[in-house]
Amino acid sequence: RKRIGVLTSGGDSPGMNPAVRAIVRTGIARGCEVFAIYEGYQGLVDGGDKIRKLEWEDVHGWLRVGGTLIGTARCMSFKTHEGRLQAAENLIKRGIDALIVCGGDGSLTGADIFRAEWPQLVQELVQMGRCSKKEVEPHQFFTIVGLVGSIDNDMSSTDITIGAVTSLHRICESVDCIASTAISHSRAFVVEVMGRHCGCCGADFVFLPERPPSTDWASEVCGVVERHRAQGKRQTTVIVAEGAIDAELNPIKCEDVKKVLAEHLGLDTRVTTLGHVQRGGAPAAYDRNLGTIQGVEAIEAVLRAKPNTESPMIGMRENQVTWTHEVAEAIRRKDFARAMELRDPEFAEEYAAYISST
Ligand code: ADP
Repeated sequence: RKRIGVLTSGGDSPGMNPAVRAIVRTGIARGCEVFAIYEGYQGLVDGGDKIRKLEWEDVHGWLRVGGTLIGTARCMSFKTHEGRLQAAENLIKRGIDALIVCGGDGSLTGADIFRAEWPQLVQELVQMGRCSKKEVEPHQFFTIVGLVGSIDNDMSSTDITIGAVTSLHRICESVDCIASTAISHSRAFVVEVMGRHCGCCGADFVFLPERPPSTDWASEVCGVVERHRAQGKRQTTVIVAEGAIDAELNPIKCEDVKKVLAEHLGLDTRVTTLGHVQRGGAPAAYDRNLGTIQGVEAIEAVLRAKPNTESPMIGMRENQVTWTHEVAEAIRRKDFARAMELRDPEFAEEYAAYISST
């Protein structure tokens, strides 16, 4: 019976539990054994009771739970050869030779590196006497499948990532809540939202990473807000996306926006940071469904992928589940899109050369 490991890694996102639930149940239905690796790659390196077999009933009720019940962690040692060697040993001892990783681009890059290194890791383990030839014999090949679990919606080769829709819902809900006070006191709110380089939400004014502000952003904001106030609006909401704060080009500080609204327009202005509230709580119906159909597809991909030669990534294109692209290729495309956004000609040239060579 094929033994498959599943882990969630990087930032948690709503929909990871539905994905793990679907992986466990589809795996069992397809005659496999599914092992949860707790605490992301840290569990892979630590082994022991961090690798546990899950049964059908173990994932009962997981559809409606936010975050990830099998835990996630940042793991520095998986970035080292020694850490990955230990991870490979733990997997071989448990007879696991396929791994489904649900995480962001960092997690999927780690998975791809591990898969590419697998034959060498196996050989080293035998040479060092940490595994016997008999033990490694059935596990010469290793399969990796990636699911994109991230509120950032910043991966290419997929229209949407697991968790992004729930997070957007939560932002809208929070901004609606803030509006009650804003309207009552005729106040202005500057709301900082998470989501790395991905912009979102409607308001009087939105600072988006996709459209860096001009050097004269202060008069632009004041112009719009003044117009809306003149139309009788009692509340002002300015959204600042996380990506606009870390932008390489004209980064924005919420406190500066507050200062401008207060000093130029005399508005009683507050800053609110939504932070982790927006990625917490129950997954929206969309993410329950997305996690489920991608989890089902991940098992199919494990059973059909060419071992040792590809790392498929499950995605959604035009409402259809897909797994045509390689993880590494999807990450390259994402980096390329970002480079174009930042008008980074050096990367664009490097990428063009890469495309014509493949
Ligand atoms: P995300 O997956 O959300 O982008 P990170 O970038 O923090 O989050 O990555 C999560 C984990 O994935 C890291 O803590 C590390 O264990 C693993 N990882 C990331 N990049 C690599 C890499 N280049 N090689 C090996 N492991 C990696």
